[in-house]
Amino acid sequence: MSSPADLTLAEASAGLRGGKLSARELLEATFDRASLTEAELHAYLTIDHENARAAAAAADEAQANGLWVGPLHGIPVAIKDNMVTAALQTTAGSQILAGYVPPYDATAVTALKSAGAIIVGKTNLDEFAMGSSTENSGYGPSANPWDTTRVPGGSSGGSAAAVAAGSAMIALGSDTGGSIRQPASLCGVVGMKPTYGLVSRYGLIAFASSLDQIGPISRTVEDAAATLEVIAGHDPLDATSYRGEYPRYRSLLGEGVSGLRVGVVAELSGAGIHPEVLSAFRSAVDSLAEGGAIVSEVSLPSMEYALSAYYLIAPAECSANLARFDGVRYGLRVDGATVEEMTARTRAAGFGPEVTRRILLGTYALSAGYYDAFYGQAQKVRTLVIQDFTRAYEGVDVLVSPTSPITAFELGSRTEDPLSMYLVDVCTIPSNLAGTPGISVPVGIDGAGLPIGFQIMAPALGEEVLFRVAAEVERASAWNNRRPPMVEADHGV
Ligand code: GLN
Repeated sequence: MSSPADLTLAEASAGLRGGKLSARELLEATFDRASLTEAELHAYLTIDHENARAAAAAADEAQANGLWVGPLHGIPVAIKDNMVTAALQTTAGSQILAGYVPPYDATAVTALKSAGAIIVGKTNLDEFAMGSSTENSGYGPSANPWDTTRVPGGSSGGSAAAVAAGSAMIALGSDTGGSIRQPASLCGVVGMKPTYGLVSRYGLIAFASSLDQIGPISRTVEDAAATLEVIAGHDPLDATSYRGEYPRYRSLLGEGVSGLRVGVVAELSGAGIHPEVLSAFRSAVDSLAEGGAIVSEVSLPSMEYALSAYYLIAPAECSANLARFDGVRYGLRVDGATVEEMTARTRAAGFGPEVTRRILLGTYALSAGYYDAFYGQAQKVRTLVIQDFTRAYEGVDVLVSPTSPITAFELGSRTEDPLSMYLVDVCTIPSNLAGTPGISVPVGIDGAGLPIGFQIMAPALGEEVLFRVAAEVERASAWNNRRPPMVEADHGV
């Protein structure tokens, strides 16, 4: 017997609507899956049994009274722990926020709840979303469900691991340089970063405000599109929120790719990409061509500098954003003789090494005398990246590349060398610098049994075509909705 925890959103909704499944049953199956996997995965920092059970009971009762709350009625959803949740501890993976209980919900969380979603809990992440493996979490790393000696990716590693394992049907992640797409790729699930401004950042604990974007992690492309329809929308509480029209992102699913122009990014699909990743990538590109897409190779010369620019801009913004953690306003305080000493001690005790490194790098890059040489230069590269993309999208509808140059690496194998960790983001960072959308779809498995992800990128507000191509990649891949071995028995395959 397979578990309801493995259903897709569309399947679960049909079951709930038709009375074949209750929100309570679905939630208990999700909790059971968490009990089975959490000791090894540590995908969650907090599981909110009590409130989730109350919400599921309320969903069932509403339905018994003929009320269908919304498109996520009764669906168990996990939230990355850098989005604030009212009355539920929110740590951003940092000891400096240990015990912090926010007084309000992030706008994206409110949107999920209004659509009927049940919040299962808060997922693990690299501290303040700085990292690519969840090993920078102040609460210990998460593991990859496909091989628990390996990382799930990051920084939304807990969200991706939970969705892959079935301890959440859908999760929210945040993506500043790849933190939704890269862990989705390493965990064999779908992860999508929307156009900057599409999903409100209100209540997202800021890392680098000009790059941060919230998005869905799910097991299917359709589920990601359906979730985006719920969380996207104008929010007066976020000054960068998009004010135009928000279409139905599922409108073009199933239309196929005939006649669409697909550009393979030359700089991101050759040197530096692992041969097994490259071969799965090429097969997926071939399948798009077989589906009638017009495939060409496109050169984006500035890609070479994007990573360096990101590692100046993101730390610079983080050094300003993290100044608010001063021992007075939130969470941890370590006393000292003066205010200055108290703040210094609090920060020394509360921030981990990677966050400290970023604050120092960012402060340096912004300091008088170095500003033009570092931050100013990086902003110019950012403009070149935007121009490269704009030029490329004059000739193609979407761009494609592998999501990550490698599959899931061993826990501990890259922690000593920050640069080798930073290099993992080479394919995902350009879309953040440009503010454009990107999605990772699983397309295969390597020799070690680890998932390989395929990235599709589109112009700003090009979500419909992005999902359209993603759906075709999903359909054509040999993936077939696979599950990690650790849950296969429970899944019933
Ligand atoms: N891994 C990248 C970093 O460390 C991206 C993180 C993110 O997208 N939040 O900055």
